[in-house]
Amino acid sequence: AAKGGGRGQYRFYSSDLKEGAKLRRLLEEDLRDALHKDELVMHYQPIVKANDYKLSGFEALIRWEHPERGFVSPEIFIACAEDIGMIAEIGEWALRKVCEQAAEWPVELRVAVNVSPTQFVTDGFVEMVQRALQGSGLAPDRLELEITESVFAGDDEHTLSIFKELKELGVRLALDDFGTGYSSMSYLRNAPFDKIKIDQSFVRGSTEEGNNNSAIISAIVSLAKALKMETVAEGTETKDELELVIKRGASHIQGYIFSRPITNEEALDRLEKGELEYEPRGPEKYRAE
Ligand code: C2E
Ligand code: MG
Ligand code: MG
Ligand code: MG
Repeated sequence: AAKGGGRGQYRFYSSDLKEGAKLRRLLEEDLRDALHKDELVMHYQPIVKANDYKLSGFEALIRWEHPERGFVSPEIFIACAEDIGMIAEIGEWALRKVCEQAAEWPVELRVAVNVSPTQFVTDGFVEMVQRALQGSGLAPDRLELEITESVFAGDDEHTLSIFKELKELGVRLALDDFGTGYSSMSYLRNAPFDKIKIDQSFVRGSTEEGNNNSAIISAIVSLAKALKMETVAEGTETKDELELVIKRGASHIQGYIFSRPITNEEALDRLEKGELEYEPRGPEKYRAE
């Protein structure tokens, strides 16, 4: 498979198709052992407040350090994990790990964890979240769960009842990658989200002429404000993009302009030193990871 086109988009050329399927089978086999071999690790990307560039919290992002293939992107292996029915197990590991690590931070910041739609509707999910909180001692209001719109593709009644139980636990809910799914305004009517994350495809190129991205960002922000939800501009890379999303009223910023995802050790180090304020990092573009 070749990495081409947009960021994180894996384009499979026709001659690559067989190769791609083979690679996937190999990864699937290895993934079954990855957990026990300690090859999975959580990294943390700062989320910064738009008004003062102060650290608001971190998003936890899973990493697989494969012994031969090096770093394997979650864009690839989370889908593998879903296919082979390992998503609940990996998701539980990630949630526990994040709660344990965040509970040890010297500053009581929020931490966001991605939850796949399949994992979300697994029986006992809410109890699992509760156990992770109790086991780690992390205050529930420090935990934010990020869920994409595709969670609504199934049984919305069931989904909404899980949201309700999670809110009763005291955790926060964020709607991830907003605007990229089959968005329907109807579920926003009832769903108790605390935050909407504006997908990075809208932020990317929002400063260029000839597209509607900037108008779409404005619309999402005013919708969120009316619903009393926070907004995060994901994937903000350049100073121009930063200026634009701030002007459009986003309450929070996440992106390479402030920081890439860092290890827990690096996060701890920053927090211990009291480095809670960020600065935009110059005019360069930080596209390639
Ligand atoms: P996401 O939740 O939308 O996470 C944001 C992604 O954007 C991350 O990619 C992050 O590294 C990347 N990013 C942040 N700022 C910038 C920027 O300025 N420029 C660019 N080009 N990229 C930026 P990552 O870590 O590769 O994760 C990809 C996706 O994999 C995540 O998208 C999420 O859907 C999924 N994922 C990651 N960790 C987990 C996890 O623990 N569990 C589950 N179920 N899914 C996860
Ligand atoms: Mg996310
Ligand atoms: Mg996202
Ligand atoms: Mg995404």
